[in-house]
Amino acid sequence: MRYQWATASHKGRVRTNNEDSVYPESSGSSDDAALLVLADGMGGHVAGEVASSIAIETAVTNEGPVETRVAAANHAILEQVRRDPALAGMGTTLTLLELRAEGSGTFAHVGDSRAYLLRSGTLEQVTTDHTIVTEYLRAGKITPQQAADHPQRHMLTRALGLIPDVDVDVFEMTFEPGDRVLLCSDGLTDMVDDDTIADALRSMPTAEEAVWELVERANKAGGHDNVTAVVVDVQ
Ligand code: MN
Repeated sequence: MRYQWATASHKGRVRTNNEDSVYPESSGSSDDAALLVLADGMGGHVAGEVASSIAIETAVTNEGPVETRVAAANHAILEQVRRDPALAGMGTTLTLLELRAEGSGTFAHVGDSRAYLLRSGTLEQVTTDHTIVTEYLRAGKITPQQAADHPQRHMLTRALGLIPDVDVDVFEMTFEPGDRVLLCSDGLTDMVDDDTIADALRSMPTAEEAVWELVERANKAGGHDNVTAVVVDVQ
């Protein structure tokens, strides 16, 4: 299987800095394995940027299985806070995809960044948001319409950098030629709905065009947050 990917990260139209981090930072392709990681940091001053960049760097350089990569990223953030208490409270989401040569991959996910699969023109969110609002929704306490603009929609139930033993969602997927995978931060999904994301992914022939189309649509819709997108085409 051949993978072709592109990544885009933009600070949006309101924020003065970009607390999202992404790996790799440029587009590329591989007939073998590939690793793609996205993180959306949080915390005062520059702490969000610090948390997301530590998470990405640690997850990428760690050589173990995805569980080990994410655990190492979590510990690296906690360790940085221990060394510099001014960074206390910083944390980050992390959504990681490890692709293997034979056409399968492993996702690891914590927080409210998302992974989607576009297959045969149909878009499906494959990660679960770790937010209070998603729990309310699952319990039937609120409707999907209420969830979309709920005042607590940004409150995470899980993030890296907060506790030593973070619970990580890990799952496998087998890909088919023609599949397009998207990883994105909430700066995209808060600004545009899934139909808009699906339309952008269906209409852009290359991964490079797709990521920038998504950034543009988020910014046209207001660009309230940093927006980061990774698109991988399975060929
Ligand atoms: Mn965000």
